[in-house]
Amino acid sequence: MHIELLPIEAMEKDGKRYIKGVHLSSGVKIDYSTAKHISFIVDGEETKHNVMYFADKFGDKQWQCDCKWYALQNKICSHIIAVNLALRNNKISA
Ligand SMILES: [Zn+2]
Repeated sequence: MHIELLPIEAMEKDGKRYIKGVHLSSGVKIDYSTAKHISFIVDGEETKHNVMYFADKFGDKQWQCDCKWYALQNKICSHIIAVNLALRNNKISA
């Protein structure tokens, strides 16, 4: 499946969140994938979150996370950044 990665500029907008994403990127695993979406697990020290990528959605709905921050802000969170960085740096392959 082709994954549309987020542009670096979009991830770096909030420096603190980006740095958190960099740290979390070493704990990213693929949970499962289907023809239309991929489920990732981001394993942090205290929390574990589920990030989903939807190949058939567009714009900011393509990447979604189950964390509270994402639910409240509806913007890319540190977990989504972590998955994007892990894919970019070939730490995981989908
Ligand atoms: Zn999140």
